Amino acid sequence: MIDHMSDRRSFVKTAALAAAVLAANDAGFPAIAKGASPMILPPLPWADNALEPVISKTTIGFHYGKHHKTYFDNLGGLVAGKPEADLDLVAIVKGAAGKADKTAIFNNAAQVWNHTFYWNSLRPKSDAKMPKEIADKIDASFEGGYEGFKKEFSGAAMGQFGSGWAWLVAEGGKLKVVKTPNAESPLTTSATPLLTLDVWEHAYYLDYQNRRKDYAAAVIDNLLNWEFAANNLPKA
Ligand code: MN
Repeated sequence: MIDHMSDRRSFVKTAALAAAVLAANDAGFPAIAKGASPMILPPLPWADNALEPVISKTTIGFHYGKHHKTYFDNLGGLVAGKPEADLDLVAIVKGAAGKADKTAIFNNAAQVWNHTFYWNSLRPKSDAKMPKEIADKIDASFEGGYEGFKKEFSGAAMGQFGSGWAWLVAEGGKLKVVKTPNAESPLTTSATPLLTLDVWEHAYYLDYQNRRKDYAAAVIDNLLNWEFAANNLPKA
């Protein structure tokens, strides 16, 4: 009974947060983080055990509570008393990109943004159908449709040498898969990020050890938040 009540409470909380994220995204890309202050660490959009068994509560605990929070704390220290403290996160990332004297600000700000985008790219396993607007784009953009997308996305996850990210992005009316090393993000390009997969070892090592391919496959098959991707599509 206690467990049931606790599940119910986390479900209500998760649903409310998910609704807030979707509502925010109606305002257009990338509302999830655009207005975010570097001073506020956004909460996870679901309970810390909601992605089990694909991603364990332990992994989420370290990944959000230690890795993401450390980037966030570092950023707060780096921008304190500087003009960046008054900017939103996206403006900080774009303003610091490619500037040799702002490498630390870029790395920490981009990692804060990338992680918030990653949490929202995932959702608990669901039988919900992919929204038509994104399904149509996938069919038009990848040879073999969804299977073609899966192959390219897991290929990007596996092909990223060392730490980094695999992304589904929109560019020039089509979707494509790209990968970025370390803290790099499509935010600094002309492409619009739709979904991301964290392929840093900390994202999967506790659950999958060296088996990045198994982690990527399990997330792609079970956890990708296609509602979020659809909401991130550039408005025609
Ligand atoms: Mn990470």
